[in-house]
Order: sequence, then C-alpha cells, then structure tokens
Amino acid sequence: VAAVRGLTRRFGDRTVLDELDLDVHAGEFIALLGRSGSGKSTLLRALAGLDRDVEGGLEVTGTVAVAFQEPRLVPWKRVEANVALGLAAPDAAARARRALEEVELTGRAGAWPLTLSGGEAQRASLARALVREPELLLLDEPFSALDALTRITVHRLVLRLWAAHRPAVLLVTHDVDEALVLADRVLVLDGGRIAHEAAISAGRPRHRDHPELVALRARL
Ligand code: ATP
Ligand code: MG
Repeated sequence: VAAVRGLTRRFGDRTVLDELDLDVHAGEFIALLGRSGSGKSTLLRALAGLDRDVEGGLEVTGTVAVAFQEPRLVPWKRVEANVALGLAAPDAAARARRALEEVELTGRAGAWPLTLSGGEAQRASLARALVREPELLLLDEPFSALDALTRITVHRLVLRLWAAHRPAVLLVTHDVDEALVLADRVLVLDGGRIAHEAAISAGRPRHRDHPELVALRARL
C-alpha cells in the first residue's frame, strides 16, 4: 500500500530523512521505533501526504488515516460529529456511530471532547481514523499518554479492529514491548533510514524474551 524510495527530508541544512526506503504491504502491522528526533513523525507526515517538501519517491495507494499522539478533536463539535468529520457519505452519522461502537464509546457519542478522559479521547480519535476504512492506518504514539491498564485495553481493541478490517498499520512507539505485542514487523529509524528490521514470526501471544526482540534490543 506504500512504496517509499530514496525519501529525503531536509530542514535547513539538517537532513532528517536520508534516502529512506520502505515498503508497507497490505494488511501488515509495523511498529516503528527510533530515538526522539530521529524523524518518525516526519516520515508519518510524509506518508499521510501532509508534507510537500519531501524529495524522492513516495507512492501510496488507497485511503490513509492518521491518529496523532494528541487526539486533536475539534472542541466545539460533539464526539459523534468529530468522528463523522470529513465523511461525505450520506450515511456519515450511521458510520460514525458504528465506529464509536467498535471503540466502545457509544455512551459518549453526545459528549463534548473536553469532557472526555485521556483514554476516551484517544479512542474517539481512533474511531475517527477507522471510520474512513483506511488501507493504511498511521498511528503516531497514540497510546503513550495512557495509564498502563487503559493501554492494555486499547492494545486489545486495536488488535481486534486490525483483525476485523485488516488495514496496514504503521505504529510509532517508544515502547519495545508494545511493538512486540502488536506488530509483525519492527523497524528502527536511525540516521535518516530504516537501520534495523526484525520480523516477529512466532505468532501471538508473544513474550518479552522473544529471541528476535532480544536481538533487536541489543542493537538499540
Ligand atoms: P519524537 O520521538 O520525539 O516524537 P520524532 O522521531 O518523531 O521524535 P520528528 O518530529 O520527525 O522526530 O523530528 C525529526 C527532526 O526534525 C527533529 O530534530 C526536529 O527538530 C526536526 N523537525 C521536524 N519538523 C520540523 C520543522 N517543521 N522545522 C524544523 N525542524 C523540524
Ligand atoms: Mg514524533
């Protein structure tokens, strides 16, 4: 669903992405790790088509949806209207309600965004991304602000939604264990390129002593 060839992004004289290559295949779940400032969000913005100043080849087919670390809900629209935002379909409201059901937020559909808890806002943001039925779902550290218990709930939810709709997912995270639990393929961005890659082939459930992850950690 995405083919990136020699992608370069410079800010002034700083080269943040340097001839980066990446293929994202339909239905796969990728976790993208990398130090703060390594260019993860820059790469996601490029994939989402939000950055016109990139050089190199970038081919994305199908619908792309993004959920940012900050939920970015429009404060003067109720939750359901936020989820329906930008949907042109005549059944936008019905689709928004269905998406809210999927993230278990039906009870908060009529609420104002500012009255939501962090986890609720995060799930609303996820519903807003899912409602477009994307072929590529870009998640930029969407769980980092959640407490440990809510995070586990949202992990389960994301895996369930992924299994049901099968978008390709590119999840940016700082959490190696999260990457292990969720992804089929773990990439590390360093020096402007994909510097390491591990395929997590042992299926689910996984554990933190998975040999491929141990090897990957040793290289971080
Ligand atoms: P984090 O894990 O902290 O979110 P990141 O890997 O997502 O980091 P990016 O946000 O992609 O990092 O930023 C990569 C580098 O590019 C940083 O050094 C940042 O300062 C720089 N950068 C990003 N956007 C801009 C911009 N609009 N103008 C100038 N520099 C920028
Ligand atoms: Mg970032």
